[in-house]
Amino acid sequence: MTKFTEVGLRETILRAVEEGGYEEMTPIQSQAIPTILKGKDLIGVAQTGTGKTAAFSLPIIQMLAKGEGKRLPKTARSLILAPTRELAVQIHDNIKAYCKYLHFRTTLVYGGASQNPQVKSMLSGVEILIATPGRLLDLMQQGHIRLGQVEFLVLDEADRMLDMGFIRDINKIVERLPKQRQTVMFSATMPVSVEKLAHKILTKPARIDVAPAATTAEKVDQHVLMVPKSRKRDLLAHVLKDAAIERVLVFTRTKHGANRVSKYLEQLGITSGAIHGNKSQNARQKALNSFRSGEIRALVATDVAARGIDVDGVTHVINFELPNEPESYVHRIGRTARAGAAGVSLSFCDHEERPYLKDIERIIRQKVPLMEDHPYHFEGMEARVIDPEEDDGLPGPRRRGPRPGAPKRRSNSGKHKPNRRINQPKSHGAKPGGGGQRKGRPAKGRARPAR
Ligand code: AMP
Repeated sequence: MTKFTEVGLRETILRAVEEGGYEEMTPIQSQAIPTILKGKDLIGVAQTGTGKTAAFSLPIIQMLAKGEGKRLPKTARSLILAPTRELAVQIHDNIKAYCKYLHFRTTLVYGGASQNPQVKSMLSGVEILIATPGRLLDLMQQGHIRLGQVEFLVLDEADRMLDMGFIRDINKIVERLPKQRQTVMFSATMPVSVEKLAHKILTKPARIDVAPAATTAEKVDQHVLMVPKSRKRDLLAHVLKDAAIERVLVFTRTKHGANRVSKYLEQLGITSGAIHGNKSQNARQKALNSFRSGEIRALVATDVAARGIDVDGVTHVINFELPNEPESYVHRIGRTARAGAAGVSLSFCDHEERPYLKDIERIIRQKVPLMEDHPYHFEGMEARVIDPEEDDGLPGPRRRGPRPGAPKRRSNSGKHKPNRRINQPKSHGAKPGGGGQRKGRPAKGRARPAR
């Protein structure tokens, strides 16, 4: 089955889906929707960008509309848990669009914002509650939300939720849910911690893998550029001269790093913004919106803040620093090549980051090709790396003196290359900014940890 009309969704849902510009189901949708409609628990291994929000929400909306359950004051008939407020906002936006022809009440509960409007919105009960675990638990403890009527539970990005230390909150929430319920869980990776959680909260789940866990988005052209730490800024400036890099997400490891890089880009006259945990919700949303609308060309982000960002037409992802958690690499490069589009990732790797690169290659089960002879090359950028005295490929202190039999040091002179326009994303039948099979779908964004 490839069409939404084939899975038995009611006309009011189909109309909304069609108006959202969806033509065909994505692989996760064609597998998950019929399974959930059969009433089965489900565990899905899928990354953000695969269409998983619709995969779980459409069948739940269908069943809520058909079911006999009633919304009672301060209760929810379905609960969707997400790790970050931006992801929660995005799920809510999607769901509001899918239910636009139904008389459903939906609401959002997340930390870092006043709780009063959230409490108010729960007063007469809702069909769908989307929440981050910490704030939900707060409001439950204050008696503003009761979970005894929940028919459907969804845990989105379960791996990240566990990463962010939500396991105790999740357990407390699950304890308060009726045993008789249907549960769906999605995770981009399947570490043992997620398997354990799945085992605890799901009953005889069906399992769907749209891509083997932790495989990188297939359509991303990945490259590593070896460069000393001290020259990374120069390399970034140099790379960004390439006009093919239309909309770029730059990742740093730290919040301060993100600020510094963003400032540097502004000095270069490159419009940019930064999002990370120290920024207010408003500032983050503002930066995301400017990035989405094309007002700024570069968005500099940390991993947690960027998790789940859904922006159309990100042509390039630049890893200014490699992540120390290899899974983050998969999530980072997944920000480009979304829903049918294609993209490029460039990872700036310093000698000391080589162990990170090795970890990444281990989990993605492939080598990230080294971009040796490329138009971004500039004098001295690889000096430390090609120096056999230093490049022993091992972490820790570098060896002194040349390796026995090591070749003479190569000179870089005359290697400067003209700034050709390469690395345009492969077209795969979709324009870099065109969003593949989608048409006219609303732009949106998300990301950052929330209590
Ligand atoms: P998700 O993985 O749920 O974050 O979805 C990624 C993006 O794909 C979202 O912007 C969705 O609106 C979009 N999307 C979801 N399903 C489809 C579909 N069947 N056709 C086209 N776009 C879709």
